[in-house]
Amino acid sequence: MTTFVVATANAHKADEIRRVLEVFDVELLARPADVPDVDETEDTLEGNALVKARALTSATGEAAIADDTGLYVDALDGRPGVYSARYAGERASYEDNVQKILGELNGVDEARRGARFRSVIAVTYPDGASWWVEGVLEGTILESPRGHGGFGYDAVFAPLTLSGTSLAELAPEEKDAISHRGKALRAFAERLSNS
Ligand code: IMP
Repeated sequence: MTTFVVATANAHKADEIRRVLEVFDVELLARPADVPDVDETEDTLEGNALVKARALTSATGEAAIADDTGLYVDALDGRPGVYSARYAGERASYEDNVQKILGELNGVDEARRGARFRSVIAVTYPDGASWWVEGVLEGTILESPRGHGGFGYDAVFAPLTLSGTSLAELAPEEKDAISHRGKALRAFAERLSNS
């Protein structure tokens, strides 16, 4: 079994990571309380995920994994993208970010509301080696929030295959089965088992 320290302090993400990986031969350790969060200084998801994982490996001497995710909206030229957490400002809440996107898409018809989530999982080792994998989920931005599950932009994102149902209306395991993060985590486990 391989052991990894997990960088995220976001409880929703940590739950998703544990749920998806529990069927694989991977042991996950929480980030030690005395290891601080790392600023997302890069302008790509891969860059940020690698910075977060590397910092954790340096601090703990253990292999680490870190996730970075962005929402890319076609009608907004791919925004908020890598800046999804801070779209409505440095201290923006999930609700602030959702309202900003809905406001910007006001009057945009359904055919032009295409979007995708992209998640990158970066993996770093004490010997300096690193790699990353990704998962993408295609969908559309709804005109108003639906459902109360999940987090972030889930309530306004409808996967293409679900005809208008939002991610926030799915049971956690249903989201994991199709989500960007679920896909990236399964790609991570597959690459691990082949190495
Ligand atoms: P982060 O930088 O990877 O923490 O993610 C950026 C932002 O994207 C988060 O603050 C959330 O608002 C949003 N986000 C990340 N993952 C998801 C998801 O699975 N569903 C909905 N929103 C998400």
